[in-house]
Amino acid sequence: MGGAILVLSGPSGAGKSTIIENASSKIGDYYFSISTTTREPREGERDGVDYHFVSKEEFEEDIKAGAFLEYATVHGNYYGTSINPVKKALKSGKLVIFDIDIQGHRLVRAKIGDLVTSVFITPPTLSELKRRLYSRSTDKNSIIERRVNNAKEEIKAICEFDFIIINDEIERASNEFITISNASRLKLSKKELKKLIVNWENN
Ligand code: ADP
Ligand code: 5GP
Repeated sequence: MGGAILVLSGPSGAGKSTIIENASSKIGDYYFSISTTTREPREGERDGVDYHFVSKEEFEEDIKAGAFLEYATVHGNYYGTSINPVKKALKSGKLVIFDIDIQGHRLVRAKIGDLVTSVFITPPTLSELKRRLYSRSTDKNSIIERRVNNAKEEIKAICEFDFIIINDEIERASNEFITISNASRLKLSKKELKKLIVNWENN
């Protein structure tokens, strides 16, 4: 059986990182795709762990070299998913988890939608999102306001996703994420389905 891709999107501050961390020991063997970005590291973030932090010039070199499965400008910075580690993880049959924005989701769906299950995560209300971004206090107020404004656009893409998690109570939201992760592993690509039919007919 080949690997599968689970795309997680949702406004900054929705709780995506918290949910992945909470669920990480309960979703089996997976590979979390570490994105490359030109945004400044936040306090406590580590290069190669949270993101690969690069300059705009380096990022644009990678674009030219065709290194990205997808990339987009989000909140004024580049963010992208490198192809090679994803290919390797899929080959070894792993579940590959992407934390990418709604543009990235569209691009990945268009390229390899066959392998993709997607989930949009959001707090119950815009005011709760604001409260969480301010209480996380990892970003300047102007950056938070930009993220809140973007969230009003991002929520409009909600109907493009397979599943929605309303991250109100963290335990319940994490359990829903575990259920969706398990289901995403069971999704078969068209190639796998064809093989199954041939096998089914010949045995
Ligand atoms: P994202 O990765 O989507 O940007 P985070 O996981 O960093 O979001 O969460 C944003 C903030 O909200 C963090 O301070 C986190 O501790 C908090 N948070 C996450 N989930 C909940 C929840 N269900 N209830 C209250 N606070 C939450
Ligand atoms: P943050 O700066 O809060 O870590 O992330 C900002 C936004 O960028 C989030 O919506 C996150 O999902 C998105 N993002 C992170 N990595 C990627 C990526 O590789 N590609 C795309 N398209 N979006 C990304």
